[in-house]
Amino acid sequence: MGVLRILFWLLIGWLVYRFIRQLVHKPTSRPAPPQPPNIEQMLRCELCGLHVPQSEAIASKGHTYCCDDHRRRAQSTT
Ligand SMILES: [Zn+2]
Repeated sequence: MGVLRILFWLLIGWLVYRFIRQLVHKPTSRPAPPQPPNIEQMLRCELCGLHVPQSEAIASKGHTYCCDDHRRRAQSTT
């Protein structure tokens, strides 16, 4: 019976080991999926051709400019 006892305790030990491993590896909180980088749309200045991010671009009458000076210059010539 000695060998069976050893095997029995080995089995118990293995089950406990697996149980603890499962507890340790259990995800408590799912990591948030990585957000795609917010790629800002680049708009082209109609006067100088410079590409500026949409948040910095000056939009006027359907045209976009890199700065207010270029907007005024473009609209004064046309
Ligand atoms: Zn410009």
